Amino acid sequence: MASQSTQLEEETSRLWGEILIAVQGRLGSQQTFETWFKPIQPIRLGPHAVELEVPNSFFVDWIHQHHLPALRAVVAEVLGADREIRLSTRGANVSTQATARRPTVELEPPQSRKSVSPQGDSLLHPRYTFTNFVVGSSNQFTHAACRAVADRPGRAYNPLFIFAGSGLGKTHLLHAIGHAVQGARADARVCYVSAERFTNEMIYAIQHAQTLAFRNKYRNVDLLLIDDVQFLAGKESTQEEFFYTFNALRDAHKQIVVTADKPPKDIPKLEERLISRFNQGLVTDIKQPDLETRLAILRKRCEEEGDGIRLADDVLLLLADRIRNNIRDLEGCLVRLLALGSLMHQDISVVMAEEVLEDYVHPEPDRLAPERILTTVAEAYGVKPDALCGRRRTHSVVQPRQVAMYLLRQFTELSLAEVGAMFGGRDHTTVIYACERVAERLNIDASFSDKLNGLISTLEG
Ligand code: ADP
Ligand code: MG
Repeated sequence: MASQSTQLEEETSRLWGEILIAVQGRLGSQQTFETWFKPIQPIRLGPHAVELEVPNSFFVDWIHQHHLPALRAVVAEVLGADREIRLSTRGANVSTQATARRPTVELEPPQSRKSVSPQGDSLLHPRYTFTNFVVGSSNQFTHAACRAVADRPGRAYNPLFIFAGSGLGKTHLLHAIGHAVQGARADARVCYVSAERFTNEMIYAIQHAQTLAFRNKYRNVDLLLIDDVQFLAGKESTQEEFFYTFNALRDAHKQIVVTADKPPKDIPKLEERLISRFNQGLVTDIKQPDLETRLAILRKRCEEEGDGIRLADDVLLLLADRIRNNIRDLEGCLVRLLALGSLMHQDISVVMAEEVLEDYVHPEPDRLAPERILTTVAEAYGVKPDALCGRRRTHSVVQPRQVAMYLLRQFTELSLAEVGAMFGGRDHTTVIYACERVAERLNIDASFSDKLNGLISTLEG
């Protein structure tokens, strides 16, 4: 019947909309979402399989290789049970005939159903457990607080607010609390959500008149783990909704754990009442890990993923020494080295490690060394570096010389006098004059400003 099939279509697109929102919340990058997920057409969300149509076979491969587990997890979350994902490509002639068979690619054999929690939201990363978390002086206090909360949810500290820079283990700890609480009480309703996804879901709920369902979902959990609340900055209505959710949970003695990249008071455009709620619990931070902790993390990951490949101690030490303030980068580099080792069937040498490291650490001083600025400018203007630095005032060197002085002041720590000295002992007033000319010209001459921007991107590249 026509109306039935329209209903089905509507339901499919509504559910697919929810899946997309969840995918978006999960992916780090909006670009990835736009490129790979936006073009997907849902064909059928059946009881056993989800059938999707993508533009071409490249999509099939790419999604298969990069996004299948995430997509599958989200589908399980939204639909309440694991489903097989079937991707097919759009036929050359877009036929709507029911009999036209689409080429279907089976990506994975049907698997045993994975159980999801009652509200279907508690998808915790299997690796982010307390067991896999390395404790060192940089995180031991926060780790202890997390354990206390996991042991006595709603009683120890409520809320627990964890702040730290990127890649220092906030999300890992949130999931670890979730695992521990779930492990102790299988029926505990654990909800992990990023503040971004919370926001997206709320917007979706408002647009689709589902605010009640939204509220019920978040106000009926035993443990709410909300990640990256700095995302709520400036989003007034989400903050308001979150505030009420927060109060409802706290009044019911349900545990709330929050993370952010800064302490509550430093999050811009965060309502005072939320700041004060956060401060009522325990606010704790994770610091930059010290060398021992970084080494211990590397060793642990090697055991987990090494797959028989060994990295020599001097290689591990090199990584730990060079990547200091982001464990995600540290691990990323390690995983690449391990992959390289297994591809080449050989042990990784320090030299190979140095090469891989180049993608992760950018030694600022080298890239923007004064000599490099001089040679780059000279090359761009087709003059010799000697002429650039000399005392002659030939017309062809005047502008590049001013540009070089300007860039030296922008990108190095050199003083006016030091910059002057590089140009045949000119004094600081000449350098000031040069910088002013360049700044003036930038405002009025578009092709000049293009040229300068080109130079800057070459230097920063
Ligand atoms: P954040 O959420 O603070 O940006 P994550 O929790 O995503 O950081 O951590 C980044 C990566 O580093 C994850 O793979 C995580 O498992 C790992 N990691 C961070 N801290 C530790 C630690 N102390 N022990 C083991 N792994 C860690
Ligand atoms: Mg995180």
